[in-house]
Amino acid sequence: MAIERRSRQRDAILNNLKMRCDHPTAMELYLSVRETVPNLSLGTLYRNLAQLEESGMVLRIKDGTFDRFDGQTQPHAHFKCTHCGKVYDAYSLKNDSLKFCTEDENISQIYGFSLILYGKCKSCDKAV
Ligand SMILES: [Zn+2]
Ligand SMILES: [Zn+2]
Repeated sequence: MAIERRSRQRDAILNNLKMRCDHPTAMELYLSVRETVPNLSLGTLYRNLAQLEESGMVLRIKDGTFDRFDGQTQPHAHFKCTHCGKVYDAYSLKNDSLKFCTEDENISQIYGFSLILYGKCKSCDKAV
């Protein structure tokens, strides 16, 4: 029973993340999931996020301020607007700008990558 409730909460967290593309912080996610799971505690959310991250179902983006979370787990880069702080997905990188290989003497295997581009988003551009 307790396990069932726990996995239901984890599913609610995961579904919430998969349905959005704004890379919420844990607190933003908490407030949003609470709308469907009112008894969710912040500790449970953190615990579930850590489990989901460990099992590769969720990505944690460390952008220097708050950790953000991403339900899209296929490799992609992120774009952070330094004006409004929003984090967007960036899929359209030119192939030749991203070449990862194991030729460097210290690299044996590459499992993934984490890349954050910084700049100004289009809606901030329009606002000025
Ligand atoms: Zn912006
Ligand atoms: Zn993303």
